[in-house]
Amino acid sequence: MINCSLKALGQMLAKKQVSSVELTQEFLNRIDTLNPEINAYIALDKNKSLAQAKAADIRIAAGSAAPLTGIPIAQKDIFCATGWKTTCGSKMLANFVAPYDAHVISQFDAAGAVNLGKTNMDEFAMGSSNETSYFGGVKNPWDFTRVPGGSSGGSAAAVAARMCAAATGTDTGGSIRQPASLCGFTGLKPTYGVVSRYGMIAFASSLDQAGPMAKSAEDCALMMNVMAGFDERDSTSLQRDKEDYTRDLNKPLNGLRVGLPKEFFADGLDANVAKVVETAIAEYKKLGAEIVEISLPNTGLSIPVYYVLAPAEASSNLSRYDGVRYGHRAAEYTDLMDMYCKSRAEGFGAEVKRRILIGTYVLSAGYYDAYYLKAQQIRRLIAQDFEEAFKHCDVIMGPAAPSTAFKAGEKVDDPVAMYLQDIYTISTNLAGLPGMSIPAGFSAGSDGKALPVGLQIIGNYFDEARMLNVAHQYQQVTDWHTRMPELNTLKEVA
Ligand code: GLN
Repeated sequence: MINCSLKALGQMLAKKQVSSVELTQEFLNRIDTLNPEINAYIALDKNKSLAQAKAADIRIAAGSAAPLTGIPIAQKDIFCATGWKTTCGSKMLANFVAPYDAHVISQFDAAGAVNLGKTNMDEFAMGSSNETSYFGGVKNPWDFTRVPGGSSGGSAAAVAARMCAAATGTDTGGSIRQPASLCGFTGLKPTYGVVSRYGMIAFASSLDQAGPMAKSAEDCALMMNVMAGFDERDSTSLQRDKEDYTRDLNKPLNGLRVGLPKEFFADGLDANVAKVVETAIAEYKKLGAEIVEISLPNTGLSIPVYYVLAPAEASSNLSRYDGVRYGHRAAEYTDLMDMYCKSRAEGFGAEVKRRILIGTYVLSAGYYDAYYLKAQQIRRLIAQDFEEAFKHCDVIMGPAAPSTAFKAGEKVDDPVAMYLQDIYTISTNLAGLPGMSIPAGFSAGSDGKALPVGLQIIGNYFDEARMLNVAHQYQQVTDWHTRMPELNTLKEVA
């Protein structure tokens, strides 16, 4: 059951082959067994989850079920959920119990889905390995010595280890797609503005976007049907007609123009990852796709631009955590200023402090033009690169991450090496475009263990349904997305 698609689970629930309470309990049992080792969840509340499951069973019995009614979903701990501890992976919010629901949470509630728990993440979503979490790292279910990627590392490990039916994540520079690549599942970052950011703790507001993390493209489509939609409480939420993201899943791919940016296959890409990606692209040719070489000339500037703009926005967003308006307050201090300083010094971890320092610096009067303004101008050029590219192709493909999962501890002391993890994903966020990563195969890690590799698919604005179609067709002729790690070092529950 733990490996079933969302559609299959929905059918089993509808036919009363299983109840939502049973299904939820099964996942909770599996979490009990695996979580002490993997650390994917940082808040669980069995009573709350089971109460939702009970309500879902009543709704199913009444014949008013929606497609995800009764299905247990893990929620990244960046989303406020009423009565749930919502920490954003930080000591700053370690005791914060949300008094309201994020839009994403209320959408899942309305659909009748079960909130299975809150998942671990890099502190304030800053990181690519989940090692900046105040609540400790998360282990990659494929190899416990390696990281799951970040910042949505808990959701990633929970999906990969089948500790949930599906999960949510957020992607500011790659935090859905890079962990999807490193843990071997399907993750989608929608077009900026498609999913409301209301109640989602802000990191870099012009880049943050929530999306589904699931086993397959079809599962992601069903989740998008719940998550997407206009919300007047987010001023950047887009007012568009409701879409059915499953509508194009079965279209054939004949004549699909796939653009391969030459900059994505240059120095810095692991040779084994490149091989897996090339094999996946060859599969697309068999499915009728036509390959077009394209160029995204400003790709190399996306990391420096992001690490000016994201910290600038973060330094402003995080100013609210001062121990008065929000967040941890130091126990001892001499005066007001001392209280602010001590509260922030104690509440934030090193990576968050680094970003606040960078952000404050690039926004300061003397440096604004040289850094922030310049970065905004290059951001426009990056978006224009994509605009030009999409004149010649329908989707863009390439690697999602430059390597397979790396060892825990390998990059923590080298921020630049860590930042380079997002070299293929960040430009999409800067342009506001949708991107996804799908399992495309495995490559042997340094110690011989097979590690997942993701293929990235980037689409034009609002082209999520087409991207899901492109991913789904590949998943009809390959089975990478059905593979799950052998967790035989632990007692299997399922
Ligand atoms: N790894 C990137 C960072 O550290 C992106 C994180 C994200 O997408 N939230 O900022």
